[in-house]
Amino acid sequence: MATTTAQAYRQFIGGEWTDSAATFEDRDPFTGETVAVVAAGDADDARRAIEAASGAFEAWSASPPAARQAVFLKAADLLESRHDEVVSLLARETGCGFGFGMFQLHFVPGLLRQAAALAYAPIGTVIPSDTGKFSMGLRRPVGVVGAIAPWNAALILSARSIAAPLALGNTVVLKPSEWSPVVGGLLWGEIFAEAGLPAGVLNVVAHAPGAAQPIGDELVANPAVRRLNFTGSTGTGRKLAEACGRHLKRIVLELGGYNPLVVLADADLDYAVDASVFGSFLHQGQICMSARRIVVERPIADAFVERLAAKTKTLKAGDPKEPDTIIGPLINEDALATVKARVDDAVAKGATVLAGGEAVGPCYLATVLADVPEEAEFSQVETFGPVVAVEVVDSAEEAIERANATAYGLSSGILTSDPDRGLALAHRLDAGIVHVNDQPVADEPQMPFGGIKDSGFGRFGGQAVVDEFTELRWITVQSGSHPFPF
Ligand code: ADP
Repeated sequence: MATTTAQAYRQFIGGEWTDSAATFEDRDPFTGETVAVVAAGDADDARRAIEAASGAFEAWSASPPAARQAVFLKAADLLESRHDEVVSLLARETGCGFGFGMFQLHFVPGLLRQAAALAYAPIGTVIPSDTGKFSMGLRRPVGVVGAIAPWNAALILSARSIAAPLALGNTVVLKPSEWSPVVGGLLWGEIFAEAGLPAGVLNVVAHAPGAAQPIGDELVANPAVRRLNFTGSTGTGRKLAEACGRHLKRIVLELGGYNPLVVLADADLDYAVDASVFGSFLHQGQICMSARRIVVERPIADAFVERLAAKTKTLKAGDPKEPDTIIGPLINEDALATVKARVDDAVAKGATVLAGGEAVGPCYLATVLADVPEEAEFSQVETFGPVVAVEVVDSAEEAIERANATAYGLSSGILTSDPDRGLALAHRLDAGIVHVNDQPVADEPQMPFGGIKDSGFGRFGGQAVVDEFTELRWITVQSGSHPFPF
């Protein structure tokens, strides 16, 4: 493998770039080339990062909101000034296609600028007291926040794991995914250092594949870490939630989804096909909100399925650096093997392949399945790849029932030309997010983003995030003295 052009990265701890005991090679999932040689952190690095974050907390939490705001506004500008380099890095490190790369580079400066405003968001209340005390509800930052981020929308999901916590006056230790240590982690060390964030306020500890747990354990168990946030699989999230429970530590969990897209008989057919293809296959289906099950009403089912399969077959799979590629590589060989195994299992149990159904190099072709039986693993758990199952139902009632027949509850969509009916049905979908007349993949930094059931709890974004990363306290002032009963 060519390692000559690969850049070397160290950990970002206490404002310094520091070595770890070992390094690992961070590879391009399409070519296999080494993109970067990265310090492979461990529990000792995590401890040092937590100490640095603890040490920086007092001054940062007491800094004027305007000072915090200025850092975020500068960071947004700096990211924009590195636009082309970061789009390219997203492609090389995470196999992200041009369109989704551009979207991430559009989204994240906005997220940082909205985080700048969050510096002023913790507004307190004065609460009427029956005792005459001056009684206040005040928020203060919690302390050190542990942030564990995934690789799939690496820039967005790492940014959101650190932005609100920092802007609200906390200090942070970020553990990026081993599949995106640079664009989902160490890049933020560079940008925030240049933006003027004081040393120790943000720390980034990267690690080699398979070596997340000791760092995660340290973040959970170390008493200096007061809250965590995690975006990733339901399995890992469940383990972290259990461990956090033992330590009575709050965690925001944004986990997997089995996101239904309901297509009612009155939906516009062309729009429904375009929405379904986009919602199922953007970033080769490696988005927690990707449509996994399309539930279509019988009167339009034949025409819809025919056009859906036809359009799916036109999606180009290959090198994500070519602008017309829609389906890039899956993140690694394990991910590819899992997608293959799930489709093969579904087919062996009776499913029909209407489009795709095979791997081409490190890519898996965009795939539409029909008649997937309930006992197939595909029907039970999220399959993180470009595969969607179509089901035909006889009524909107049945559509809602099928859409809710999953342990997950992240995002969903209902395609209909009748917004009133769509809204009435939206109230009945068991998901944290419902889009009427749109597909499930959408995000804006100011929205309360998050799931229910096995998709997790807590919310990134909007006002909700203030509660996630501050402590609400009751403080009273007694003017003069008052009598006591004894
Ligand atoms: P995926 O399979 O999509 O990579 P994961 O849930 O495994 O999803 O990964 C999401 C994040 O969780 C990554 O940063 C990964 O390194 C981290 N992670 C995986 N296992 C653990 C663990 N035991 N403790 C803490 N973090 C973990």
